[in-house]
Amino acid sequence: MLTVKAYAAPSATDPLIPTTIERRDVGAKDVLIEIRYAGICHSDIHTVRGEWGPISYPQVVGHEIVGVVTEVGPEVTLHQVGDRVGVGCMVNSCRECDNCLAGMEQYCLNGNTGTYAATDKDGTTTQGGYSTHVVVVEDFVLKVPEAIPYEKAAPLLCAGITTYSPLHHWKAGPGKKVAVVGMGGLGHMAVKIAHAMGAEVTVLSQTLSKKDDGLRLGADHYYATKDEETFEKLTNTFDLIINTVSAVIDLDAYLKLLRLDGTLVSVGAPAQPLPVTVFTLFGNRRSFAGSGIGSIGETQEMLDFCAEHGIAPETELVSADQINEAYERVLASDVRYRFVIDINTLN
Ligand SMILES: [Zn+2]
Ligand SMILES: [Zn+2]
Repeated sequence: MLTVKAYAAPSATDPLIPTTIERRDVGAKDVLIEIRYAGICHSDIHTVRGEWGPISYPQVVGHEIVGVVTEVGPEVTLHQVGDRVGVGCMVNSCRECDNCLAGMEQYCLNGNTGTYAATDKDGTTTQGGYSTHVVVVEDFVLKVPEAIPYEKAAPLLCAGITTYSPLHHWKAGPGKKVAVVGMGGLGHMAVKIAHAMGAEVTVLSQTLSKKDDGLRLGADHYYATKDEETFEKLTNTFDLIINTVSAVIDLDAYLKLLRLDGTLVSVGAPAQPLPVTVFTLFGNRRSFAGSGIGSIGETQEMLDFCAEHGIAPETELVSADQINEAYERVLASDVRYRFVIDINTLN
């Protein structure tokens, strides 16, 4: 066992505190990663506060992890000591079900092993990236291209892949009109990636307060959803709408913005069910879909795509002792657009 420094939630209601946790010994197919940066995802906050169900404490979260390989097991073939690597939202899967065999381990029918707050193969609870080191089986470790700065790479492992996967699957590209609902951590990545794929990109945000950013990051158009005229003006317009908002939205109002065979994909998840009028789906043969993160193969493809197109998230670097304050700012939407923890500050 390896005892490593970490920042953990001691309960659902207390602030996160510095502590130590145990990492398993490096197994035959494992790599030991010295973590350099970890992104702060809204899911981290939901999880530690027990908002997505009860968890055990202390719990370390963080599933946007980048670092350097410092040790490899004797049977490791994919990574070497010194490699720049990343770990996203999952660290294993069953490897036997139809979806795993199809290379879609994010949809593992037996449940993929989450990077934190999940039960690992050895029965222990997985602990995330707000920590100095992590041990992960080699085929769930991604290669971070040199072209992407280390501290910028972390948010790609969740926010990046969560938006890249549906944009890729529903074929965002030249001649396609894509709308992004919400200009936050996920939304700003969706804008950059959809623009790089060649689509015509529209941001639908509550207000115009981030309009300058949206246009700078690659959006062609920017509308306020508080303005009722927006919905009238954009009826029957989009091929694809990526909804990144975790709050309840008026789904029918957004579905009506889809043109023939258009799809609205939700990657943000409100706790409550969203009502939909089926007649709205009849019009234009519209679809309402969901999408969850992406496979390991697709995550590598996304990292390579971002390197090739010079795409990186907009980040604000924080030290470990600023994590609790950063959480409050995430909840207040006061971040442009992703907090990244400098893990050196844990030492
Ligand atoms: Zn996340
Ligand atoms: Zn599986």
